[in-house]
Amino acid sequence: MIRDGIRPIILLLGPPGAGKGTQARFLRDTLGVPHLASGDLLRDHRRLGTPLGLAAQEYMDRGDLVPDQLVIDMVMERLGRPDARRGALLDGMPRTRAQAEIVDQMLADRLSAVRTALYLDVPTTVLVERIAGRWLCPSCQAAYPGRSSDPPGNGTCVECRDRLYQRPDDRPEVVQHRIEVYLSATVPVIDHYAKLGLLVKIDGDRSVSTVRMALVISIGGVVRGRRRARWHLFVSHDFRAVTAGSEWHGRTLCGHIVSSRMDPQLGTEDDFRSHPCHECHVAIRARPGGISHTGPRTR
Ligand code: ADP
Repeated sequence: MIRDGIRPIILLLGPPGAGKGTQARFLRDTLGVPHLASGDLLRDHRRLGTPLGLAAQEYMDRGDLVPDQLVIDMVMERLGRPDARRGALLDGMPRTRAQAEIVDQMLADRLSAVRTALYLDVPTTVLVERIAGRWLCPSCQAAYPGRSSDPPGNGTCVECRDRLYQRPDDRPEVVQHRIEVYLSATVPVIDHYAKLGLLVKIDGDRSVSTVRMALVISIGGVVRGRRRARWHLFVSHDFRAVTAGSEWHGRTLCGHIVSSRMDPQLGTEDDFRSHPCHECHVAIRARPGGISHTGPRTR
């Protein structure tokens, strides 16, 4: 738990293809904080042809890391915008131990701190397979599994109707290199946050909805309920850690605002999976960006 008044930052760590983007869009909608992905910000700069985009281009195409200072300045500028006032999900950053140390210091200078570092753990063979076939939406960044030769469905995003594309650095020879770079540069970042007691390791080689549930629970979501013999999944409303037995305030994934006094029973992830409130379950299973139909949003 971090002190009151400190803006919480959640880090999403994991190798290329671990599912960070897919899960981040869901967490963004659930928590109401922006998803800042360093890779997406860099790709935006490239599309716009900014000096930063041009400087980053050659590193990205090779699958190498862009120099620390360039990405740090870019991400810190983005974190300073008003929509990140209540917190943010940071994806793809920090990527090296040096970046982690600078980011920690810069966050502290801005009354902010890493609250949790979520690490999605997926075996390398699975990563290569996932990336080789994936197609992406250029607007919402949703990832669609497919074959490298053919886009899935009719080749458009079900959310935005944009034409799906394949990232040039998803070519098999570059992917292998990106994974190697990740293992040598980013594993020390994982150790860094583990030593600070902030790391939560999640098995990312499970279904999208199972990983979602584990993520929600690891950032303070709790399973409570048995209202009408169903378990609900609550997310801490004030975006702080919730401990069993404490007075808390939350929102079910189906949209109700609740307090601990209303639902005294505490369940587990397995309880929720075996007997979920249908609407909470739909929210967990919904496609990225698609959870708003599950009930009135109360924030
Ligand atoms: P992935 O995690 O799938 O490799 P990203 O979209 O996060 O993809 O990043 C794409 C590329 O952008 C990386 O290969 C790297 O060149 C660059 N990049 C992204 N974030 C950083 C960072 N924090 N530091 C250095 N380079 C970065």
